Amino acid sequence: MSFQPKKERHFGRGAKACRRCGTHRGMISRAGLNICRRCMREIAKDLGFKKFGTHGG
Ligand SMILES: [Zn+2]
Repeated sequence: MSFQPKKERHFGRGAKACRRCGTHRGMISRAGLNICRRCMREIAKDLGFKKFGTHGG
């Protein structure tokens, strides 16, 4: 076992994070939504989009 850091600090304060789940991965910089792709699909259903979901789900 090796010593591991307290927390990931790859992202500074200036880094954008998903305002929905708080992740930095798969961030979408569209329309200033500031959300990740995962959440995008979630809210997409509410927003009315219909091009993010392939099929099933
Ligand atoms: Zn998210």
